[in-house]
Amino acid sequence: MDKTKQFEALVHILWDQEEKQYLVHVPRQTVSKVSVHAELKNEMDPSRYVHVMDIHSHNNMPAQFSAIDDQDEKATRLYAVIGRLDQYWPAISVRLSNGGKYMDVPPRTVFAGYGQPSFPGEWEKNICKSPQRRRQKNLRLYLQRSGGGKE
Ligand SMILES: [Zn+2]
Repeated sequence: MDKTKQFEALVHILWDQEEKQYLVHVPRQTVSKVSVHAELKNEMDPSRYVHVMDIHSHNNMPAQFSAIDDQDEKATRLYAVIGRLDQYWPAISVRLSNGGKYMDVPPRTVFAGYGQPSFPGEWEKNICKSPQRRRQKNLRLYLQRSGGGKE
């Protein structure tokens, strides 16, 4: 992907009930500057993986949930949006959705730290450019695997 352009992107945070650890899953998705359309078929086995959180980026825009986000984020899980990725410190907003009713959550209660800014290169292979827009942003989520907490 062109690392100089601005696009949204989406990742899923899953809890592996067998390995007792969180993992980051990048669903196949089509992205533009203002949208992400993820393919939800062929998802990870729900009998093993608990879908805990969705995280999507707002590239250089504010980390505020949009009206479209409100329409899309109806499942019962955590949702995070990361914006201002053009800044040294990105902005993060987190909320809990219970069937589409929302409660804001302080990001520090969900994210322990940013750690080293790196991610596996294979995550990018599932992100395709939207045909309507040619501008693209490299998603840089400075997430670390949680290390398999037992709580
Ligand atoms: Zn959004």
